[in-house]
Amino acid sequence: MNTNYTAMRERPRRLLLCLDGVPYELIRQARQRGLFDRFHEPSRLLSPFPTMTNVALSTMFKASAPAGYESLYFDCERREMRGGIGKYVGRRTADKIPSSYMDRLDYQEPLHFEFLIYVAPEKIWQTDFSRFRQCLRAHAPAQDFFAFLKSTDGLLHIRGAEELNVALERLNELLRGVMKEYGQDTEIVLFSDHGMNLIENRRVSLRTHLRSCGYEFSHNLRGASASRIAVPAFGLCGYAAIYSLNDEVAEKVADNLTELEGVDFSICRKEDSVVVKSAQGEARILRKVRDEETFYRYQRIAGDPLKLQPTVKRMKEWFDAEDYAPEDVWYEQTGDHSYPDVLANLYGALFDSRVRHTANLLVSFKDGYYYGAKAFSYLAPRLRATHGNALSPSSNAFLMSTHRTFPATVRAKEANSILC
Ligand SMILES: [Zn+2]
Repeated sequence: MNTNYTAMRERPRRLLLCLDGVPYELIRQARQRGLFDRFHEPSRLLSPFPTMTNVALSTMFKASAPAGYESLYFDCERREMRGGIGKYVGRRTADKIPSSYMDRLDYQEPLHFEFLIYVAPEKIWQTDFSRFRQCLRAHAPAQDFFAFLKSTDGLLHIRGAEELNVALERLNELLRGVMKEYGQDTEIVLFSDHGMNLIENRRVSLRTHLRSCGYEFSHNLRGASASRIAVPAFGLCGYAAIYSLNDEVAEKVADNLTELEGVDFSICRKEDSVVVKSAQGEARILRKVRDEETFYRYQRIAGDPLKLQPTVKRMKEWFDAEDYAPEDVWYEQTGDHSYPDVLANLYGALFDSRVRHTANLLVSFKDGYYYGAKAFSYLAPRLRATHGNALSPSSNAFLMSTHRTFPATVRAKEANSILC
């Protein structure tokens, strides 16, 4: 960040520090152990679905949408898979920058660390932390500084919460040093992009199952075959993005997925609504805008796939004649739901261009399940934590500051005014 406000700044210099993948819950626990005690109470920062780094940070910084959910993605115009592992080789040249939020970074680990973390997690996080400290030391003391510590994500995936807690202790010491050096003139804002479940996760047999239902997995979708689908498989995460001939095909795939172990629900578009399908039933999410105010409707077709019935009862007085309620009321009533702020979150996942090439179908897995590249499964035979789904452990990132107190829950799209 080259914001230099020395002459005119009305706020303290800001040190922004993003810890990749650290869930709200682990920070809350760390504070109970006495860590980060110079910070104000942490807020839950709601990470958008799918709860993945580039989706989250581009939303939080109102930056350009990344091409896809991960570096391997499906290009809807070329109708083929692009990117992938090549994006990680060599230096971080322009074609390897997924979103413009990265232009703001003063520090991030070198690209190859993202893989070395699988081989030597302890060494990598320690190196990442000390490189950050060196970089900060070399930075002009009057200027804001934005660092992204990515090693915490890999560390959690591979080693789990216990090792992460060791890293948090180290970070606590490091930040005490920073506070001592810069004093009250520097505000430290510590936050994460998404959370993480903290349980062992296993692979969903997505390919086997969909093949047995008659679908063919392909790298491109040129031509008019309704049985061909493209599913970019990369990091070992709790969601899958499925591309198909059109939204009608996607809805059929969603039907086939309701019976697969590990699938929580799938969403696809139907005209201007979102269809939610799961073993628990089917529902629609509808949005309307009236006098610049946004309203959502949860229309149950069968069962209650998003477990919203008790909330709907509580909100009775808020519904209009068409069964819509204001976005802010839904947010107030579902901010701490097991699917936080679920209607706006899922609707936005398919209609708000969180990525340039939105999938026809997004699948949210239950905690304990992932899908991704087989090659990574060999590198990480045990996956002790992951993220990507719409459940609260992955959706609840955190946000806290040494100088300011924020609301208990902050939506990703509101983060920009706090962070920048
Ligand atoms: Zn991750």
